Amino acid sequence: MDLFDKYAPFSDRYGQLEDLGVDPFHMRVEKILSPTRAIIDGRETILAGTNNYLGLTFDPTVIAAAVRALKTQGTATTGSRIANGTYPGHIALEKEIADFLGRRSAIVFPTGFQANLGILAGLAGSKDIILLDADSHASIYDGCRLSGATMIRFRHNSPADLDKRLHRLAEKQVNKLVVVESIYSMLGDQAPLDEFAEVTRRHGVSLLVDEAHSLGVFGDRGQGLVAELGIEDDVDYVVGTFSKSLGSVGGFGASNHPKFDILRYTSRPYMYTASASPSNVEAVIEAIKQIRARPNLREKLWDNARDLYRRLTDIGYQLCAPVSPILAVNMPNEETAIYCWNELLKAGIYVNLALPPGTPNGACLLRASLSAAHSPNEIKTIAGVFANIAARAALKKQPERVGL
Ligand code: PMP
Repeated sequence: MDLFDKYAPFSDRYGQLEDLGVDPFHMRVEKILSPTRAIIDGRETILAGTNNYLGLTFDPTVIAAAVRALKTQGTATTGSRIANGTYPGHIALEKEIADFLGRRSAIVFPTGFQANLGILAGLAGSKDIILLDADSHASIYDGCRLSGATMIRFRHNSPADLDKRLHRLAEKQVNKLVVVESIYSMLGDQAPLDEFAEVTRRHGVSLLVDEAHSLGVFGDRGQGLVAELGIEDDVDYVVGTFSKSLGSVGGFGASNHPKFDILRYTSRPYMYTASASPSNVEAVIEAIKQIRARPNLREKLWDNARDLYRRLTDIGYQLCAPVSPILAVNMPNEETAIYCWNELLKAGIYVNLALPPGTPNGACLLRASLSAAHSPNEIKTIAGVFANIAARAALKKQPERVGL
């Protein structure tokens, strides 16, 4: 008997990957050069598998804000806000987010994962019901579990299935919270948020939207998909992360609910963890300012996404969703996905290898993501390598190997 016995299936699977000479889960970035370049395996590599959508990680004003905070406030707060106090930056950032999203208040967490844990476990309790999209992120599932609420999954991106389930629950006199995301991180597909909003409004239940991958990407100032669709009044709670478009680390929950701030005294993932460090906080404040002031970043991101989408589909690759900053290339099987991922890396292109069980419907994917910082030449190079791999596989008379 050993505590690690339960991981035997994982070890076996991992061993098979190692036998194939790849280790996608321990890819080492030897040196980071820019938002879109790094040295990997001694080779300069184009990064097309980050969430650095606006390329702000190397923005001089964002870096200057972080350095200023490091020098004047130190490296860390070394404790939670209820025990060690709130820094001026925490308050300034929460005001900035609330103002950005047009919400009454915002609560900052040390990571996006914790934001979902803290908001979900804070809002819902054991007598409540959470209805969540089946393809929800792990942090949403874990937040629901932590809340103790009854969890009901509805079919991915299906307002009709949600409607049906809410009808069945109509007699139950308990609080019901519906949870969806704006863009799903694996396939890059967008939720029909306006339809979800219509269903939740009609049933009189609360709606929470995780805007992790849509903040900075949608909306006239980058506020997200809720703002783009003009459905702010139908969305009760917004959760987001700083680790993607905002180029930092941390997360938040925001709402107009007059009692929202009670979560600061009731939500354990907020209360019992060290607060976000001053450099993170100041970097995010500056990043939001940049996003608001520079719509061209968003335009560049979308131009790059459209450009790569067109090039990949022209080659014959099958993409899993309409164009978005996440382009998931469907692979026919695991072996082909691993082969192509490795060939891309050897040719200096890094994308994400996404395999079951971490993917919806057992899909095997090469997940590329775009940044405003990619140059037109980088997009051309990425597409060129994808084309070479398709051609090489075709030469081997195995066109189906690349999903053609
Ligand atoms: N929500 C969603 C939808 C995500 O995709 C992620 C991260 N991939 C998170 C929450 C967690 O964010 P973080 O990585 O900043 O903790």
